[in-house]
Amino acid sequence: MERNTIWVGTSWKMNKGPVASLVAAKELARMSFPVAIQPFVIPPFTSLKDVCDILSGGRVAVGAQNMHWEDDGPWTGEISPVMISECGAELVEIGHSERRIHFGETDWTVNLKVRSALRHGLRPLLCIGDTSDEYYHDVTNETLARQLKIALHGVSEEDLSRVLVAYEPVWAIGASGRAADATFVETTHDHLRKLLRNIAGSDSGSAVKLLYGGSVTQENAASYIALPNVDGVFVGRAAWNVDHFRALVEGV
Ligand code: PEP
Repeated sequence: MERNTIWVGTSWKMNKGPVASLVAAKELARMSFPVAIQPFVIPPFTSLKDVCDILSGGRVAVGAQNMHWEDDGPWTGEISPVMISECGAELVEIGHSERRIHFGETDWTVNLKVRSALRHGLRPLLCIGDTSDEYYHDVTNETLARQLKIALHGVSEEDLSRVLVAYEPVWAIGASGRAADATFVETTHDHLRKLLRNIAGSDSGSAVKLLYGGSVTQENAASYIALPNVDGVFVGRAAWNVDHFRALVEGV
């Protein structure tokens, strides 16, 4: 993958059962995408293997929405990195704010998962973000520094270059519909880049892909991609429909 590849992807969250996922994956497999873009989709676990089977070896990378850090064991309801790899996924989303808020995900479990994903050859898509309280009290940078430093604790410089980081302000994702201002994203991503260089040194810290997510649409996606230190966008609602996804990818 070239250094300047732009990542554009979507998590289908708890949408699209096995039948709808299959239809969507088949449509994606027929689509072409600009060479500079690495598109990715993150289906629910119930269709992960089917979507991987259809898209593997093609243009669209596939990821899982979460994982446990252990390989196996008595963890009812959980999915291990071994299982995700066996399905054929390349990416795994870790630490999305919905998991932190509703399912008790902590900075420390996020760290266990990031390191476990890397051990299993998966590329972590690490999600970090400030809540609206943190944003209004002007502690966004402190919050992101804590989340990032703990999530990457113990990750080697070499492994770090395989990590994708998505900055997703909690106040901007989902129903709020309020996308972050491009100037704010630029400042925040500059801060994240400096942190990454401090954590891992200049080369590895510069190699980490930094994505913005939060009410990204066909209309605003290109304005984020144009910013320095924005290497892609992570999209929810505006990209669940595969034609909208392709239109968004083509527009950046
Ligand atoms: C998300 O929930 O990660 C997300 C980016 O959602 P949306 O684009 O719908 O705000």
